[in-house]
Amino acid sequence: MKYALINGSKAEATKGEKGLCPSCNSEVIARCGEVKVNHWAHIGNRNCDPWWENETEWHRSWKDKFPVEWQEIVHYAENGEKHIADVKTQTGYVLEFQHSFLNPEERGSRNKFYSELVWVVDGNRRKTDKKQFKKVIEESDALNKESTILRVCFPEECRLIKEWQDKNALVFFDFQETTESNQSRLWFLFPEITTSEAYLSYLSKQKFIELHNENKFEELVRNNILPIHNKLLEETQSCHKISSNYGNPNNLSGFDRFESNRQIRQRSFNRL
Ligand SMILES: [Zn+2]
Repeated sequence: MKYALINGSKAEATKGEKGLCPSCNSEVIARCGEVKVNHWAHIGNRNCDPWWENETEWHRSWKDKFPVEWQEIVHYAENGEKHIADVKTQTGYVLEFQHSFLNPEERGSRNKFYSELVWVVDGNRRKTDKKQFKKVIEESDALNKESTILRVCFPEECRLIKEWQDKNALVFFDFQETTESNQSRLWFLFPEITTSEAYLSYLSKQKFIELHNENKFEELVRNNILPIHNKLLEETQSCHKISSNYGNPNNLSGFDRFESNRQIRQRSFNRL
C-alpha cells in the first residue's frame, strides 16, 4: 500500500515508520528498499485484501495523477465485504490499475463488486502483447473517417484482447508509448458486442486523466462510448455494414449496467 494512517492521516512509507492499515486497522510497517517501491506492509506479510497486488512504479505513477484523497479507498459492499480501490473518483468511478494476470472469474467478481469500474491494464507486462496488439491494429478496419474506431476481426490473435474482452467493463490498455502523458495513448476496448470481433478506440493518457480530475469522465461515457457502443450493437445485430456516421441516438439501449448504475447514483445525488 502507498498509504497507511498515522494519527488518522494518510501517510506515505518512510524508513522506520509504523502506521495503521486503513482497511483492517492492524499495524503496518514501512518498507523502503531498493527493489520495490516504498510501501506499507502488514506484519508477517499478512495481506488483508486478497485482491491487492504488489505495486510497481507503473501503479504509483498512475495513482499520483489523482488527488491523495481519491487514492486507496476502502470500498464496502452491503454484505460487509471490503476491498481497497486503487482510485475512486469524486463521481464514483473506481479505477483499477492492473499489472498481473486476472482470470475471468476474478475479473468478474471485481466488475460486480465495484459498480462503475474502469480497468487500466499494463500492456507491457508480457513482451508479446505489444507486438500482437500492433499487428491486430494494423490489420483492423477503420469504421469512421477519422480512424478513431477500429474493428478487429480476429481478436483471438491478441492475447490481451482475448483476456480482457468483457460485456460489463470499461478497459483501457496502457502500453506506455512515451513517458509524456499528452503524447501517450490509452487504447480503449469496447465492451464485448460479439466474440468474433473486437472494437477499439483511443484517447490520450492526458485526456483520460483530465476527464477524471475534472469529473467529466461520465460525459465521455454518455456522449461517446455509449452511443458508439449502441450503434455497433445495432449494426452487428442487423448485420448491416457500419456507416461512418456516429450520431447520438436518443434512445440508449444496451450497456445496461452502466446506465442503470448511473441513474441510481443520480437519484441518490438528487436526494442530498
Ligand atoms: Zn490491512
